Amino acid sequence: MSVRPVLIWPDDRLTQVCQKVDQPDAKLIADMFETMYDAPGRGLAAPQIGVMQRVFVMDVGWKEGVKQPLVCINPEILSVSKEQVTGPEGCLSMPGVTVDVTRPAGIDLRYTDASGNRVTQTLNGFAAICAQHELDHLNGKMHFDRVKPDERARILKDYEALT
Ligand code: ZN
Repeated sequence: MSVRPVLIWPDDRLTQVCQKVDQPDAKLIADMFETMYDAPGRGLAAPQIGVMQRVFVMDVGWKEGVKQPLVCINPEILSVSKEQVTGPEGCLSMPGVTVDVTRPAGIDLRYTDASGNRVTQTLNGFAAICAQHELDHLNGKMHFDRVKPDERARILKDYEALT
């Protein structure tokens, strides 16, 4: 296993749509977890380490001492709750910035797990938000792409001032 460098905005690869995956890649998955825990973060999508594949990993509990590692390959959202929530989101590819994003509070997510099984899981709370954030990365979208244009412009300006 190895920690890989995390791409930082405005790297072009963060705006690209990733390719479907044929087979789970155990080495890639192990590296993604190691990179995520090292960062430290709760979610990491493959394009954030320059691998343009539809894979993300997350663990919403580890910072509180409850490891809940989840690997999602070729994920798709089957349905979303009517209820929406707004909360601050950070991104390892945009350090120092948080964006208030409004998203469905719950989702049914279908994905291939690390063993190659296609499964469906209902996610709520922070897990639902995290999964939607990571899935956005697979479609070349950042958190600031989910807010109004004037807010987006302000965030990018603030970020430029930081870097
Ligand atoms: Zn992110």
